[in-house]
Amino acid sequence: MSLTNKILLGMLLGIAVGIGFNLLIVVDEASNLPATPLGVWLQTVVIDGVLDAVGQIFVASLKLLVVPLVFVSLVCGAMALGGHSRMGPLATKTLLFYMFTTALAIGLAMGVAALVQPGAGVDMAPLANYTTPASPSVKETFINIFPSNPVQAMAEGNMLQVIVFSILFGIAISRTGGEVGSSMKTFFEQLNEVVLKMMLLLMQLAPYGVFCLLAKLFASIGFSAIADLAKYFFTVLFVLLLHGLVVYGSLLKLFTGLSPVIFFKKMWKVAVFAFSTASSNATLPVTMRTVEHDLGVDNKISSFAVPLGATINMDGTAIMQGVATIFIAQVYGIEIGAAGYLTVILTATLASVGTAGVPSVGLVMLAMVLQSVGVPVEGIALIIGVDRLLDMVRTAVNVNGDAVVSVIVAKSEGMIDESRFHNMKLNAEVDPV
Ligand code: ASP
Repeated sequence: MSLTNKILLGMLLGIAVGIGFNLLIVVDEASNLPATPLGVWLQTVVIDGVLDAVGQIFVASLKLLVVPLVFVSLVCGAMALGGHSRMGPLATKTLLFYMFTTALAIGLAMGVAALVQPGAGVDMAPLANYTTPASPSVKETFINIFPSNPVQAMAEGNMLQVIVFSILFGIAISRTGGEVGSSMKTFFEQLNEVVLKMMLLLMQLAPYGVFCLLAKLFASIGFSAIADLAKYFFTVLFVLLLHGLVVYGSLLKLFTGLSPVIFFKKMWKVAVFAFSTASSNATLPVTMRTVEHDLGVDNKISSFAVPLGATINMDGTAIMQGVATIFIAQVYGIEIGAAGYLTVILTATLASVGTAGVPSVGLVMLAMVLQSVGVPVEGIALIIGVDRLLDMVRTAVNVNGDAVVSVIVAKSEGMIDESRFHNMKLNAEVDPV
């Protein structure tokens, strides 16, 4: 069986086993702990023991690859572009496209939510013990892009800072020229091959990792919360699917003429990684390799656009924020108004720039958005019960958005190998470098 199929099987089995455990474990209402000896054993030994350990090791192995892969690959890309006059326009185009898709996503979300009215008639009291997350200011966000210490940026996994440092480093190598320049160039190109080989090795863990993450998650997920918040939950889910499939498919077709079906077939496994880790950052190695290897985007674009997207482009997250803002405002009986809608679109688009793609960060950003239109931030406590499941789906949308924009920008620059895009046999997880 191919590795991709094994990963899919891992996902399906993980969900099935998780739901099975969920049904088997009878929870004591008062203490919220398993009530039977079997339940206690399953919870402590299997779920919180084995599944949790293997899941965490898998996520660690993905994260392990992020900094080396982004650094080495981006240095190679920047080296190749060097002082190329296209670099500025290329970066600007990518950035604007990311913002455009995010604004589109949140606009769509708020439009649908205004029609569905998810919060109308809902009578809920927010959790009392919820503390509001602190969120950074716009000024801090901007200053934070510029690294003062590259080692610290890498140690903390601060992607924007790593991106800035890698680009400068790559340009410096290409400007150095001569013997030093060319031997450094060879060195980084070879290092890139080694890092990719390491990725292929660690990918063997993926089916087991995906299985464990999903089994643990579905074993402990509270399905009853979904019933209480059904309207909110399904509105977000509907807009996520609409944006992820219809909007991205149309944008791809419109701007590149390439087939959305092929695109989604190739991105499917990336979506599975995003779904099971709920982190665009942890999925980054797989996204980057798939965009470059399977979709044929030139390294000069993918090495820059994909890591940038993982940090600043979160359309799925913006969708949750759009619906959540309207939902919470309705529950509290607050009218946002037309100006409020615009403020939400602007704040959510900017908020996504300053936050990294890690699980649940969308809630921190939501705090910024709610504050901007004067909706009580404690309202976040209303939706927290169903957020994990939505987080998984929106992360899958986020990474697809990064890939769509990368393909569109690459096509507009003539930097996509369309024979690779159309070749269905290519498989980044198993093909050698
Ligand atoms: N988990 C999402 C991501 O990594 C961010 C979020 O919506 O919380 O893309």
